[in-house]
Amino acid sequence: MNSAPEVNSPANSPPNGGSEDSPNAPVAAFTDFALDPLILKAIAEQGYTTPTPIQAKAIPIVLTGQDVMGAAQTGTGKTAAFILPIIQKLLPLSSSSASPARHPIRALVLTPTRELSDQVAENAANYSRHTDLRTAVVFGGVDMQPQVAALRAGVEILIATPGRLLDHLGSKTANLSQVEILVLDEADRMLDMGFLPDLQRIINLIPVKRQTLLFSATFSHEIKKLAQSYLRNPVTVEVARQNAAADTVTQVAHLVASENKQAAIVSIIHERTQAGFPRQYLIFTNSRLGCARLARALERDGIKTGALHGDKSQGERTLTLDAFKSGVIEALVATDVAARGLDIPDMPCVINHELPFSAEDFIHRIGRTGRAGSKGDAIALVDSSEKRLLDDIEKLLKRQLDIAPLPASDFAPAKALTRGRSTKSVPPPKQPVDPFFYQPYQASPKASSEAAAEPMNEAGITPAKPLVGALLGGSRKKSH
Ligand code: AMP
Repeated sequence: MNSAPEVNSPANSPPNGGSEDSPNAPVAAFTDFALDPLILKAIAEQGYTTPTPIQAKAIPIVLTGQDVMGAAQTGTGKTAAFILPIIQKLLPLSSSSASPARHPIRALVLTPTRELSDQVAENAANYSRHTDLRTAVVFGGVDMQPQVAALRAGVEILIATPGRLLDHLGSKTANLSQVEILVLDEADRMLDMGFLPDLQRIINLIPVKRQTLLFSATFSHEIKKLAQSYLRNPVTVEVARQNAAADTVTQVAHLVASENKQAAIVSIIHERTQAGFPRQYLIFTNSRLGCARLARALERDGIKTGALHGDKSQGERTLTLDAFKSGVIEALVATDVAARGLDIPDMPCVINHELPFSAEDFIHRIGRTGRAGSKGDAIALVDSSEKRLLDDIEKLLKRQLDIAPLPASDFAPAKALTRGRSTKSVPPPKQPVDPFFYQPYQASPKASSEAAAEPMNEAGITPAKPLVGALLGGSRKKSH
């Protein structure tokens, strides 16, 4: 374990701008970083034209070899912020040899969920595609054999969930003795999920002389303590207020008695469909049973629905997720297994059927929409028994949620909550907040007609909209 680490306070971190030669100088283009043309080519193929703020700040620091404690909102381009410089740093060590000995694990990325591991691995494979570096992912719930084969063949960048990695370490199919860079992604979640003992066992097998990068959307007291024990003189990289949701997410709450929530969801979907919004809804529930029940009920109501929760096999989870991403399923009802890491570009709307027990989970749930600068709506259905949870969320967000009547509401509001709170329509939105855009929940005539006019592809699926303008300060060219 590292000794006597010192954590820079945000005030000690390099300022937003910085001088031209500071590692934090404003970066207008990926070509401003010292990145190899092979990496720049892969970035261009992704269609990214401008680094997001977390990328602009973190990439130069990671390249210098310093430890990083990164706080960034969900969906801000965090993954590329650490993967791109890792590829750059490992490039001189890459080899075209087929020998496994020439491909030891040099970078390890640990994530709390299978879905997040898979997503990070997909990014890593994309960004390193023109190099000889190899990437692999290992997580539980699926056959170990293909993972064993990949590990035996040799891989420089390994992305893993802690439990399955420990299985591979136990059976000696993975060896961490040459790891130079360790990334703890969504570190707060790893703590929540009780991964600390597993983390400790894994970290004990990694050389002390290494670079450690710790990323988290929320930064609690526990995370700061964890950072103290694993990081050495880290630079704190912060791009947004801590414990905040992206400003591109428009939030609204409806007061609905719990027995009316399912009908309220149907009504919301109906109204939004009429207003021209795409039919893609991620709906969060707190329990596996509640998740399965709601999914069945919505299906009966004529909405193509899938369920995603921990009782499903990994195969089922992957199939359901793919069906949701491709538009075969219109509503995905999920527990918090989908609250983190799930990245569906231009996901228009998240509905909280119930408020989560932890306010931080609320931020992660609604972070599934409004990603990478696209706009999104987060709708919370709140009944009187959830008052305390709502208070906690508002305390964490440092703002009150707008309470609006349901679209075509025949439903009795949850009475105890209406007292002292306005149930008037959402007030008109403020001017766009730079660098994010802001869109009201109510469909504006323009938004509706644009959405209605959106062409469909042969599969009958509305194609994902290109990200327009300076998104989060990062942007992507029109995708093909
Ligand atoms: P992440 O926070 O890493 O999950 O990224 C969220 C989304 O932002 C993903 O869909 C990425 O493909 C996208 N993204 C990452 N970097 C950029 C960039 N520089 N410009 C536009 N989109 C980006």
